[in-house]
Amino acid sequence: MMKQAHYGVIVVGGGHAGIEAAAAAARSGAQTLLLTQNLDTIGQLSCNPAVGGIGKSQIVREVDALGGVIGRAADFAGIHFRRLNTSRGPAVRALRAQTDRVRYKRAVIQALDAQPNLHRFQGEATELQVQGGRVVGLTTHQGFTFRADAVVLTTGTFLRGRIHIGAHQKAGGRAGESAVLPLAEQLAELDLRVGRLKTGTPPRIDGRTIDFSNLEVQPGQDPPGAFSFLGGPAERPRQVACHIAYTNPNTHAVIREALDESPLFNGAIEGVGPRYCPSIEDKVVRFPDRDRHQIFVEPEGLDSREIYPNGISTSLSFEAQQRFVRTIEGFEGAVLTRPGYAIEYDYLDPRDLLCSLESRRLPGLFLAGQINGTTGYEEAAGQGLVAGLNAARQARGKEPWWPTRAEAYLGVMLDDLTRRGVAEPYRMFTSRAEYRLHLREDNADVRLTERGFALDLVDEARLAAYHRKRTSVLGEFERLKAERRSVGEQPPGEPPLKDATSLYDLLRRPNADYLALCEWAGLTPAFEDEQLIEHLQADITYGQHLDRQRAEIERLERHEKIRLPDDFDYAAVPGLSTEARERLDKARPQTLGQAARLDGVTPAAVALILVHMKRRALV
Ligand code: FAD
Repeated sequence: MMKQAHYGVIVVGGGHAGIEAAAAAARSGAQTLLLTQNLDTIGQLSCNPAVGGIGKSQIVREVDALGGVIGRAADFAGIHFRRLNTSRGPAVRALRAQTDRVRYKRAVIQALDAQPNLHRFQGEATELQVQGGRVVGLTTHQGFTFRADAVVLTTGTFLRGRIHIGAHQKAGGRAGESAVLPLAEQLAELDLRVGRLKTGTPPRIDGRTIDFSNLEVQPGQDPPGAFSFLGGPAERPRQVACHIAYTNPNTHAVIREALDESPLFNGAIEGVGPRYCPSIEDKVVRFPDRDRHQIFVEPEGLDSREIYPNGISTSLSFEAQQRFVRTIEGFEGAVLTRPGYAIEYDYLDPRDLLCSLESRRLPGLFLAGQINGTTGYEEAAGQGLVAGLNAARQARGKEPWWPTRAEAYLGVMLDDLTRRGVAEPYRMFTSRAEYRLHLREDNADVRLTERGFALDLVDEARLAAYHRKRTSVLGEFERLKAERRSVGEQPPGEPPLKDATSLYDLLRRPNADYLALCEWAGLTPAFEDEQLIEHLQADITYGQHLDRQRAEIERLERHEKIRLPDDFDYAAVPGLSTEARERLDKARPQTLGQAARLDGVTPAAVALILVHMKRRALV
């Protein structure tokens, strides 16, 4: 092991960012070391073992379309799949899976085992090696030094992590794991902006002590779904139901009584938590008129008795947790197996990063995941892939790559983080994406897989599978355009046709259904796979909207291609307002597109910069 102490890329951390970073760096050709505190916790799902959800499943599919790990692992481990937002358009629909946490870790380890160029080592990074203002390696707590062309930090909630359960506080990176202190101290001493955030988790319950007969049953969908564009339903394990419970006024009364010992309300916690994922005590205080809050009662795995009560994350004392849980119908005899807790941790201001996720202040250092102020496995995985790829590209002397806001949710996230920073833990929402009709789950491969192949992220087998799928979809478009039905014929749920119309145009109509239309038209469907049908219908339905957006997207893409040098002199641009100049000087956008999205930078200012760049032959 110690013989090869120089790597192309070292990734620190075996969480969701670290896994994708290490796998992407290795896939794209760099000799990669994944260094993590404990090899047995690689792929640990710190909170709920659930993957996907609105805005997040799109990221999972993008990572998968680029050859990543998370989608395949979630499919392999998924024990309860649900399609969310089915009453709304395909752009905002999302898949969510409850997974078996043991199977999830196993799937991740299998993926890493099968990955050439990837080595693993157990150790805590205590110090970055910096030479000539650039990161050139690191030292571990055992005193080993590893050299590297680039280092990716994905330390999650571990930097100066502090766990709170009521008045009880202790250092920790996550329950049962130690916090990372020496590296956190070094990062604070380097010229990096450090802040503090907070997140929390509910207590876990022994499922044998829950009376499920008093809870609503929530079945999963049948057949189960799939995140990955590869593989099939045969890989899914046994599927199980989840349940729904509710808090009640008694629960709220117990929580209110215990508030003075809550670190969230007595000032012990300084870090900002996620507003959209509040603790139960937050909900009780913020919504005093609500007499109940929903709890999703979700299994931790097929062989686990533990239940994750989703919706009652808390940092109240353990005694108060036990009391309020037992006020809930079905939980009267509940025995807790682990206390809920809140955790505060350091994050580094992502405005100090380039879109490649390399530090602006410390070249050779890349950051991904919760360390950048985000929350969620999916957001971490997406950043990990981008950081690992770009670290490897730098090690191999190649230009960085990142997707634009029009190409991927990954592009939206990178742009949001690096341009705006975070005021609270950042999670993805579909509302963050201005081109969400285009950035759908079903077409993530159309958007990214060929690009992934060009970037050495995607192998030939995945590319060939994508081409087979695309050829069959395009072939079906042509067949549907050629099949026309005459005046007077009556498609299902529609009035008789007034003009001869193609099946393709009929499918554009609201509520049109591919299989029903094929049956009506006497055609054998080209495919029966639900995912393919959804993709076909969404592409047809949204095609016309996209045509309308095309000009806007093309302008954005054009502006994204115009790179602004880091030392660009905005004072030399004639006519630029002081406000625009100050904002540009502060933000140092990497592209004209990013400049255009800064508050206070008007389209006129963008035009002035462009003219100036042309005059100086900078474009
Ligand atoms: P992590 O998964 O935290 O992984 C970090 C990895 O880095 C670990 O393997 C650790 O051992 C390793 N490491 C750290 N420092 C070093 C070092 N110096 N040397 C070597 N290895 C190191 N997300 C949500 O979306 N919703 C929630 O409700 C939610 N609740 C949460 C509650 C809790 C209590 C916690 C801890 C997390 C919660 N999360 C939640 C966040 C979610 O777990 C993270 O967003 C996700 O795990 C981040 O992935 P990551 O790879 O950035 O970091």
